[in-house]
Amino acid sequence: MLIIGFIVGALIGSFLNVVVYRVPRKKSIVRPPSACTSCNVVISGYDNIPILSWLLLRGKCRNCNCSIPPKYLFIEIGTATLFALITWKFAPKSLATTLDLIALLYLAAISIALALIDLETHTLPNRIVLPSYLVGIFLLGASAIASANFYPFIRGILGAIILWSLYFIMAMAYGGGMGFGDVKTAGALGLFLGFLGWEVLIVGAFSAFLLGGVFALALIVTKRVKLHSGIPFGPWMLMGAWVGIFLGGAIAQGYLDLFGFSQVI
Ligand SMILES: [Zn+2]
Repeated sequence: MLIIGFIVGALIGSFLNVVVYRVPRKKSIVRPPSACTSCNVVISGYDNIPILSWLLLRGKCRNCNCSIPPKYLFIEIGTATLFALITWKFAPKSLATTLDLIALLYLAAISIALALIDLETHTLPNRIVLPSYLVGIFLLGASAIASANFYPFIRGILGAIILWSLYFIMAMAYGGGMGFGDVKTAGALGLFLGFLGWEVLIVGAFSAFLLGGVFALALIVTKRVKLHSGIPFGPWMLMGAWVGIFLGGAIAQGYLDLFGFSQVI
């Protein structure tokens, strides 16, 4: 399962490189086929194998010999690793848990794409964010039907409303680095996090501010940026969500143990 997760992740990572490059440039992600961004020669199938091709070509285009940034390799390895971890943690046991796994792998793919696009362009494109509501509702709704348990799905809808509202208030009050793209992304994340549990939602939302806050503080202290210069918050929101997904249960349990409430939930 781990190896399959890794291979699927590497393939998706290769596709995400295309998405990250083309979506902000308003280009189709299916046509034309991948080409060298320097000489425009179409990349042949055997030069387009995730991870391996970059290593075999030593990061150079076969045609024009220009260098292919290692970023492409890192995104493929990163996506493959995240997919393997998700497949390991959420190894499916039934139809419902298989649908959950697919939903989480989808969320992982768009999280990586959105974080990278936000870092480069300070936008979270509607073309990626808006379909995630539909895909999430479809997959998690189907999982609820398959397991005949609608509580997690209802909790997901509530999670979406809660995070959307929280970020809406912050975008209105604070502005600056937080825009409506963040509000829409937060709502989508709330759906998935809420579905997995309240503790996942809470830890996921809180981690975003912790990570973003620590980073912003570090930049300000080292005088890299001035306050309100608009550091994108999207990457932290997305990274925080994944802290919630992987560690939400453990952190919530540890916190309850600390205060002697271990048997409450
Ligand atoms: Zn080239």
